[in-house]
Amino acid sequence: MEKVSLKPNSTALLEEKVLDWDSVQKSFDQSFGTEIYSSWLKHISLVKEFNDHVILGVKTRFFRDWITSRYADKILSVIKKHKLSINRIEFKIEPENSSYNKSIINNVNLGQVSEIKNSVLNYNRLNPALNFNNFIVGKSNNLSFLSAKKICAQLSRYNPLFIYGGVGLGKTHLLNSIGLELSQKNKVMFISAERFMYQFIKSIKKNEMVNFKDFFRKANVFIIDDIQFIRGKEGLQEEFFHTFNTLFDQSAQIVISSDRPPNKLDRVQDRIKSRLSGGLVVDIGAPDYELKLSILRKKILDYQNSFKESPDLQEEVIDYLAKNSNSNIRELIGIFNRVVAFGKMSKKSLTVSDCKIILKDIYNTSKVVSIDKIQNVTSNFFSISLAEMLSPRRSRPLARPRQMAMYLAKKLTSRSLPEIGRKFSNRDHTTVIHAVKTIDKLIESNDEMRKNVEELKSLILSD
Ligand code: ADP
Ligand code: MG
Repeated sequence: MEKVSLKPNSTALLEEKVLDWDSVQKSFDQSFGTEIYSSWLKHISLVKEFNDHVILGVKTRFFRDWITSRYADKILSVIKKHKLSINRIEFKIEPENSSYNKSIINNVNLGQVSEIKNSVLNYNRLNPALNFNNFIVGKSNNLSFLSAKKICAQLSRYNPLFIYGGVGLGKTHLLNSIGLELSQKNKVMFISAERFMYQFIKSIKKNEMVNFKDFFRKANVFIIDDIQFIRGKEGLQEEFFHTFNTLFDQSAQIVISSDRPPNKLDRVQDRIKSRLSGGLVVDIGAPDYELKLSILRKKILDYQNSFKESPDLQEEVIDYLAKNSNSNIRELIGIFNRVVAFGKMSKKSLTVSDCKIILKDIYNTSKVVSIDKIQNVTSNFFSISLAEMLSPRRSRPLARPRQMAMYLAKKLTSRSLPEIGRKFSNRDHTTVIHAVKTIDKLIESNDEMRKNVEELKSLILSD
């Protein structure tokens, strides 16, 4: 007996001890801080105690995963302070745990629940304008389109459905269409990864993680847009992983979009990547000429339906836009709107060279037009020498081309008036202003002038 008391004394004493769960809880509060404690640890109950391990009760799988992935080590070390012999903890999911339920009910302030609901619902709205009917199908998006339709016809057949592709190619449109189609008979949650994070952080700050979790778990169709946003965000990935798993376990249909395939999502946990690629992965490619043409034709129809008049667009202009726009459908639609608006404002049918300027403006990162080029092209066009064009002579055959070149320098470059003046043999900026005004007026009144300016513009902007 004497020998026993000579054992390292603290261990001997603590081994005898039965855990006092209330004081363990108090230690949790002190070690983790009240926020984490009241969101998470407060709800853990002690189910069973053994000499070397304890079984702790939590309400849901999510709670268990969350707590083990973040706090398990620290929980163990806190418990060890109360009973040193404990070297392992196990969690048991106990949905009916009454003490847990009571504490949740006591904690949930109904006002907060509706607040979180409202704030999520604010951006959970599906856009009725983005539906399957107005999604134009071509070679590049056919597979994504068919997959989207398929999961609508049969939920969880492909789970998750992962659609990836570059910007402006129709990912959000497709996701929204799925949401619309399914929302009649299902509880659909549609959110961007960015919004998901915003809501997540807000819920942590406001101690509403339980509500947050419950809210997202209610969906049986969970659609998350732009998942690449979670790259490099550990906390968010953790939360997404658990949400994903919970929903997946409940056989909810999950639909995800991304700007790249799952295996290219760098700085994303492997376990998430593997979940993401576990269903059907399809890509949405860049539109070809035919698809761009169909989209333009559809936009013209839409315009006719809304405004009861046709946009003034010549066939060659439509063709030019389909051929020369970038492979980005959002941009194509932007250009279309712009061309139509310009046409309406200038009260004339736009030409291909007008479109070149509009496109140029949009792609202003592409080639830069130099004043030298404008001068060369213009003097060639009128068969005069560059020296003559820049000379002080005021005869009309020299002065008009000079004014046109100044005008074009103003319209096609971002040079200031004084800079332009300097490039024209050090003329004053007021001379440039005068030139711009004169040509603007002549374009209005003189067909020949308008044609010449258009031709010049397209010569300058070509190649
Ligand atoms: P992403 O999410 O891939 O960046 P969006 O879905 O936001 O692209 O699409 C950009 C714009 O192009 C939206 O206005 C969308 O309605 C339109 N759009 C994209 N693809 C199509 C399509 N196939 N048919 C009709 N409109 C489309
Ligand atoms: Mg999008």
